[in-house]
Amino acid sequence: MAATPDLERIAAEPLGKRIGAYWRMTGPGYMQSAMTLGGGSVASCAAVGSLLGYELLWVQPLAMMLGFFVLAAIAKQVCATGERPYDVFWTRLHPFFALAWGVSAIVATVLWHIPQYSLTANGVVALGEGAGVNLDTQGTRIAIGAVVLLSACAVVYMYSRGAAGLKWYERAVKSLVWAIVIAFALVVITTGVRWGDLFLGITGVSFLQRVFSAEGVPPAAIGPIVGGMAAAVGINMVFLYPYSLLRKNWGKHHKELAFFDLLSGMALPFILATGFMIIAVANTVGPDPGDVGSKLEGAQSIRDIRQIIPVLAPTFGNFVGEGNGESVARLLIGLGMAAIGFSTIITHMLAGGFIGAEMLPDRYEKQARLIFTLLPAIGVVGVVMPFPITLAITASTLAAPLMPLTVACFLVLLNKKSFMGDAMPTGGYRILWNTMLAASVIIMSFAAYLALKDNWGKLKTEMGWASNVAHAAEKAPADAAPLTVSMPDGLDTRYAVFTHDAMATEWSFVLYARPQDQTPGELRSIADEAFAVIDDIEGRISRWKPGSQASEVNRRAAESPVRISPDFMEMLRIARTVSDETGGAFDVSVMPLIALWKEAAQANALPEDAAVAAAKGLVGMDRVVLDPKASTVAFKEAGMALDFGAIGKGFALDKAAEAIKRHGITTALLHGGTSSIVAIGAPPGTTGWSVGIRDPHDETQLLDDFRIADHALSTSAQGRPIVVDGEELGHIIDPKTGRPAHSDVLSATVIAPTAALADALSTAVFVMGVERTKVYCQDHPDAVVMVSGPGGTAWFNRVPGSVDGKSTFSGRS
Ligand code: AMP
Ligand code: MG
Repeated sequence: MAATPDLERIAAEPLGKRIGAYWRMTGPGYMQSAMTLGGGSVASCAAVGSLLGYELLWVQPLAMMLGFFVLAAIAKQVCATGERPYDVFWTRLHPFFALAWGVSAIVATVLWHIPQYSLTANGVVALGEGAGVNLDTQGTRIAIGAVVLLSACAVVYMYSRGAAGLKWYERAVKSLVWAIVIAFALVVITTGVRWGDLFLGITGVSFLQRVFSAEGVPPAAIGPIVGGMAAAVGINMVFLYPYSLLRKNWGKHHKELAFFDLLSGMALPFILATGFMIIAVANTVGPDPGDVGSKLEGAQSIRDIRQIIPVLAPTFGNFVGEGNGESVARLLIGLGMAAIGFSTIITHMLAGGFIGAEMLPDRYEKQARLIFTLLPAIGVVGVVMPFPITLAITASTLAAPLMPLTVACFLVLLNKKSFMGDAMPTGGYRILWNTMLAASVIIMSFAAYLALKDNWGKLKTEMGWASNVAHAAEKAPADAAPLTVSMPDGLDTRYAVFTHDAMATEWSFVLYARPQDQTPGELRSIADEAFAVIDDIEGRISRWKPGSQASEVNRRAAESPVRISPDFMEMLRIARTVSDETGGAFDVSVMPLIALWKEAAQANALPEDAAVAAAKGLVGMDRVVLDPKASTVAFKEAGMALDFGAIGKGFALDKAAEAIKRHGITTALLHGGTSSIVAIGAPPGTTGWSVGIRDPHDETQLLDDFRIADHALSTSAQGRPIVVDGEELGHIIDPKTGRPAHSDVLSATVIAPTAALADALSTAVFVMGVERTKVYCQDHPDAVVMVSGPGGTAWFNRVPGSVDGKSTFSGRS
């Protein structure tokens, strides 16, 4: 209720006392705070800090200052006239302006609702991780969404009833928002502020330097700038604000209180929170001070708020002990993000109801309020679906120009004597108000122009990529493949999939676009070059091709040394090393035995022991002479032969990866022959490529799944063996016995720095068996091995860097 006498008394008090009195009366500003400090701002701060360090620190305060003047001008009008802005637009300007404002406010509310659900769900998932529970599955996420949605409906219902518990709810949210601000402030204090850069960043000097530098503004910076502008004061906030004033019956005497309320309730927490967050992210995961902008090339900004946890963990570790830092960070980020998301969900729903009720005729008010309160709830899809970027781009692009249009309407109204009466500003004040509002219109129009330009281009390419991605599903390798790779349900669809047949198997490469790539077609030539590398290697090392160097070696190397190309020599030397290190379990000279057992399978009769012994006499790397200087290979016995079935695909994959990296691609997955993988980088916003190993005995089951980045992986499985005379003829031979390997291994997976090594080892594990593999791994910490047999599945050297509930293997490449 209006407390006019009080306010008149307060207005006469000195400034200090006035502030104290106002502090106890604030209200609508905090409502704005809940709305503006949502998923959009958090995401934009994380992106800005991780990409450009301190350089964009000016964006949020500037946007907030403009927003403050716009809302203050609205407060001035509403407090003076007591009229409802939507009706004023309709009657005093033109119905078009009213409709455009209302519709875009609703569209913005619904769209900006989606990231709130993903923020809330990620917060809850982070809490689960803190408690050691994996909530990051489709099913649990849907359950989280349902609970959040129902709770939100309950709170909104309480609002309509004015229930008493709301005070506690509002206090809890406020405290958590401030706890987050304090948490980031702590990180800033402990990691230190680079004061010079801070000054250059807030004043925009360093950014201006970039604008006028030879490189200019990197295109990747435009999104965060425009996004930061848009996320500060949105068009739906402009709509909701005047009505929360009217509801409180704030009139003429509340003007000063309203300004104070906006500053303390909305602007201050927002500027502090976003500022601390940007500095904290920049200090910890941002670019090195001298190297700002370098990260823009890969454009790997933070996309999931849980990636912030490592930012906080070390600082908290100082206070609660190193081991607990991460858990406390998880708890706070989890709780805080869930609270921020949830409170924004509530305000959005309330705003939707307000706007709907205002736009429709009075007699439908009740229905309109109900429907428009529930409309944003479709955002619940955000719990499982990342932001639908194409939809968001289209809508925000269309809505962007309407914000300056609406502000222009308020500017016109402020200068209408017939509307404002005596409250119309005069003299110097009039100039000040008009300057600030005009500046808002101009800057917001410019941002809208940038958004339109940038988004139009993006939308076009997005469509191109999207159609390409749809295509990728058809190209996926056969279901029976021993390993599965799932593409992230990506925010970033700027990738393309290419397939190729070589080495009697299928190859499929996923290449993420470089910043300069506009269409999937631009990646095609890179993929083709890599496929040509594979074909070329096959042409030299295949024993099936009569003209290959390998065939020549197998024909003539017992007579005289045969010249081979340098990469062939490189592969042979890797093969020799693995052979030495596995005690001869891996041996590319096993060919005579392979031939013998193949014959046996065809003839359906086991070979004589003498024949096995004879073939065994032709096997062994000590009988293969390599001369790296002359680049030749020679055999000590006639009848020897080499087979690269266990290493060739991996080696070719390594060479293909080199070719792809030479072209500046930093994110790719090369999948060869359905059993080997080279992971280059990780898909944007993830810690690695998601890989699953199929159970060879039940193709519907996975033995395990995990993520890999900058590593190679290879898996071998013992398929259904041919049985002759009660003996199982597998395709892997134990060179020691001369017989098919019968170890306790049914499936072997190796994660290693190179695919050649992973491929060779995955074969060797079958021969070595579980115990010898374990010993090998103790001496070779570089190799991570998963073996699965009748007794279950075991991992060696697995050091999970668990970020998201799954093990992630990342690092060297
Ligand atoms: P992979 O599918 O990578 O496990 O390779 C299996 C192939 O490697 C077999 O089909 C043979 O061509 C070959 N091979 C069989 N036994 C050995 C062995 N002990 N060392 C090296 N290669 C082998
Ligand atoms: Mg292999």
